[in-house]
Amino acid sequence: MTLELPGYAHVYSGKVRDLYAPLDESGLPREDAVLLVASDRISAYDVVLDTPIPDKGEVLTRMSLWWFDQLADLADNHVIATGAPDVPEQVAGRAILVERLDMLPVECVARAYLTGGGLKEYEADRRVSGIELPEGLVDGSRLPEPIFTPSTKAPQGEHDEPMPYADVEAAIGTERATQVRDLTIAILARGNEIAAQRGILLADTKVEFGTRADGTLVLADEVLTPDSSRFWPADGWQPGRPQPSFDKQFVRDWLTSPESGWDRASGEAPPALPEHVVEQTRAKYVEAYERLTGERF
Ligand code: ATP
Ligand code: MG
Repeated sequence: MTLELPGYAHVYSGKVRDLYAPLDESGLPREDAVLLVASDRISAYDVVLDTPIPDKGEVLTRMSLWWFDQLADLADNHVIATGAPDVPEQVAGRAILVERLDMLPVECVARAYLTGGGLKEYEADRRVSGIELPEGLVDGSRLPEPIFTPSTKAPQGEHDEPMPYADVEAAIGTERATQVRDLTIAILARGNEIAAQRGILLADTKVEFGTRADGTLVLADEVLTPDSSRFWPADGWQPGRPQPSFDKQFVRDWLTSPESGWDRASGEAPPALPEHVVEQTRAKYVEAYERLTGERF
């Protein structure tokens, strides 16, 4: 799973990305920077599937970089370099050199539309993350305004859980909590302003922030990609049912269909994806990238 990258030391592997520290002249890992390498791995229901999606790492890396530019006036970001000599040829296009930050222990989620876990919470008591919402909302409803619904950063193999806002305040302080809440909402709102012109709705998103040694807050990780956000084609949006999407909903739907033969509750590893699912999933990612940026992949 990890690559042999001369001049770099492997630091960490998440479900989808691998982190490597560049080695300095004396061969020691640098502590101020890290190479963030996006693989073609895809995860669904918090498990990494055996079947990679060709080009996914590059599509999502390019999309994140495009968004960092669109969001530059809202937040500092972690990008240092995107090409040679800081990014090795072997991972060109799907890796970026970033500032190594002290990551906040919160998954910063904002929702502009109601679905998924948010919808489940709403159906229980008409609140999501403690925020009271109007009556009568259904799957896919647009919220009166985007809301902040943070979750925990679960250790590997465990599921992220909703995190009450008071717990966020306790973990990072009230001022920092307000700052990341407002910024997360602003990022989703800006994302939707831009995506709307391209016929895409961003239902929700998860962003991660870190801090520099001097305390500055920095937008890190990936941003507004189909791995971190729900992308819906605007012309297919119809509240009251699950929405068609550009994200891995497609893979999730296949996994839970009779065709896959997989029982999610069994605890068994999901089956390999058939060629037509791989192809269609790749096509979805590429289409989302091209529609959004107006560039050919
Ligand atoms: P997990 O962290 O639970 O493994 P994940 O499976 O989503 O989550 P990936 O997205 O595959 O992980 O890996 C990216 C990892 O890199 C995340 O842990 C993220 O917090 C971390 N990360 C992103 N940007 C930075 C940064 N600038 N400095 C340090 N760590 C970062
Ligand atoms: Mg991640």
